[in-house]
Amino acid sequence: MNAKLHDPAPPFDIVRIRADFPLLSRTVHGKPLVYFDNANTSQKPRSVIEAVDRHYREHNANVARAVHQLGEEATSAYEGARDRLARFINAPSRDEVILTSGTTQSINLVAYSYALPRLKAGDAILTTVMEHHANIVPWQLVAARAGATVKAAPIDANGELIVEKFFELLTPEVKLACVAHVSNVLGTVNPVREIARECRRRGIPLLVDGSQAAPHRRIDVQGLGCDFYAITGHKMLAPTGTGALWARRELLEAMPPFFGGGEMIREVRFDGTTFAEPPHRFEAGTPNIAGFAGVAAAIDYLDGVGFDAIGTHEQSLLDHATSALSELPGIRLFGTAAGKEPVISFLLDGAHANDLATLLDLEGVAVRSGHHCAHPLMQFFGVPATLRASLAFYNTHEEIDAFVAALRKVSRLLVAP
Ligand code: PMP
Repeated sequence: MNAKLHDPAPPFDIVRIRADFPLLSRTVHGKPLVYFDNANTSQKPRSVIEAVDRHYREHNANVARAVHQLGEEATSAYEGARDRLARFINAPSRDEVILTSGTTQSINLVAYSYALPRLKAGDAILTTVMEHHANIVPWQLVAARAGATVKAAPIDANGELIVEKFFELLTPEVKLACVAHVSNVLGTVNPVREIARECRRRGIPLLVDGSQAAPHRRIDVQGLGCDFYAITGHKMLAPTGTGALWARRELLEAMPPFFGGGEMIREVRFDGTTFAEPPHRFEAGTPNIAGFAGVAAAIDYLDGVGFDAIGTHEQSLLDHATSALSELPGIRLFGTAAGKEPVISFLLDGAHANDLATLLDLEGVAVRSGHHCAHPLMQFFGVPATLRASLAFYNTHEEIDAFVAALRKVSRLLVAP
């Protein structure tokens, strides 16, 4: 169990927290910014911005290939981030944590290095209807090469996975199962432990897309019992172009490299190149070193606030936003699962999502409109797009009130009485 769990909880001081995020105090179109697009990317605290800045000012050099002082400092920042990430997700070993550019790269690595060499014609990969395209398209690409298929487990009208159907679809042809921990559109939290138990019983490895879980809840890959876990740094306060893939050691050891180049080899010869052990086998080329200096600072920041406090505040924001939005005439909420994370997708009768988002922007409110890289989910609900307000622990009840007031105002311009 993580030692941090036993630390006394710091007081949750929203004013101080907001002061740590320089961007939150800016205005947009002359209005105070209300940033509700956190599922897209989070804002960054000063400590993360300064860690990146400090890296370039004081420590910049390449990693793992220079014996000089700067090379050592850069390597220790990069490898230090791996240590932090390993603790952050409770990985049994730092060597099971591959540093990537984000979830998209993490999943493609599993698709090309784990799945493709194993898939045969007639095999299948099982995913769900609520996935982000990053947890669908890589599987389709490798399945097509192998003559395999991708199946999707259904969800119900609340946006919850129909778990029994998922288990029914876990047939012997399925060679890999892939689920989001938390849906980026609905906020639904999938029962990963239960799914992992069933996959394990049937000998099917499970990949979990944790992009939308890691910003909100403590991740424990050992407790979850999955086989692969992908996260992306920029949604959890870290710079863009950072992320990680955790995988069980025995799976990584059996995986060939995906990218070839410097840093991932043992010896290069024209009569046969040999490769480094994991994790370096999967980290060809110069990585985003400054970005990973920022990842370490982001994890320190999240640990400092504490996921108990984050969860309590975010749930209170979610309750407030849900009840305020529910009072709007013609509102349709998508995703009403119990225990969901603070992501609210909705439509207002008679108004197009993009028009509403554009007018909300003029009021200083940043929300996302569109398909959210989840076409199959939009097809399930029979809509081309939704609006999505996605909240973070640095948001406030007052911002929700401002957002709902802005929505009332702009909807009057769009929705015919
Ligand atoms: N999966 C989910 C659930 C996501 O929300 C996202 C980002 N929108 C991704 C995968 C892809 O993450 P990235 O673009 O950072 O690789």
